[in-house]
Amino acid sequence: MSQQTTIAKTVRFTGTGLHSGKDVTITLMPAPADTGIVFARTDLPGAPRVKAAAANVTATLRATTLEDGAAKVFTVEHLLAVFFALEVDNCLVEITSVEPPVADGSALPFVELIQEAGIIPLAAPCRVIDVTAAQIVRLPDKFIAILPYDGLRISFTSVNPHPLIGIQYGDYEITAATFVREIAPARTIGFMHEVEALQAQGLALGGSLENAVVYDGDKILTPLRFPDELVRHKILDVLGDLALAGRVRGHVIAVKSSHTLNTALAKQIAASGQK
Ligand SMILES: [Zn+2]
Repeated sequence: MSQQTTIAKTVRFTGTGLHSGKDVTITLMPAPADTGIVFARTDLPGAPRVKAAAANVTATLRATTLEDGAAKVFTVEHLLAVFFALEVDNCLVEITSVEPPVADGSALPFVELIQEAGIIPLAAPCRVIDVTAAQIVRLPDKFIAILPYDGLRISFTSVNPHPLIGIQYGDYEITAATFVREIAPARTIGFMHEVEALQAQGLALGGSLENAVVYDGDKILTPLRFPDELVRHKILDVLGDLALAGRVRGHVIAVKSSHTLNTALAKQIAASGQK
């Protein structure tokens, strides 16, 4: 689509925040061209707003946090991945807490929500960022890079010491259809020993066997949707973070990348202003 888009009607979704454990409702509303994806914290005085943009990322521990003045939201990456993959450029997301609902731990419920709303074109051209030169962000044992490519493709290598996981590799040409079928249903993964430590720090309070693939010792407590569900979810997280740079096209190659590296790459792409 060469025109910007928004959703056709207002839709609503209620659930629990993964880390906060709080009940929350998101209301997705149509927005005019050049709005972008904007969150409005309707639980705070004056409903302060923060735009989903790389420059507004303030933390990346466990989830991506966006902040602008009094407006703060976190764990926004799954919702942003859906807007990105389904090519919704503009939307106002009213949110009644700091964090969107975790839903089932995947992006599928948000796909269904946007499909229920419908997507309409707006009378303004969309700005596609075509990567014209390779860019890389790295740490000693991990990296994420983007190369020029006719389309959007993500190749991810995940390395996990758990005996049931090990090394997983996923390589997908990302279109709305492949995203909905192969990536959106992949859920967050958690480990029992980590969950207990996180909950002691006031995190993962909304986590349960209904919204994550949970491993305990050498066992798995939840049936998998895909044998390589973990790497598919890593690709979902890359998409959500990459969305912060805009409608990017290129081939992303990542090894053991996390929100920290993903958002650093998004910042680099946004700052380089490649057209
Ligand atoms: Zn995730």
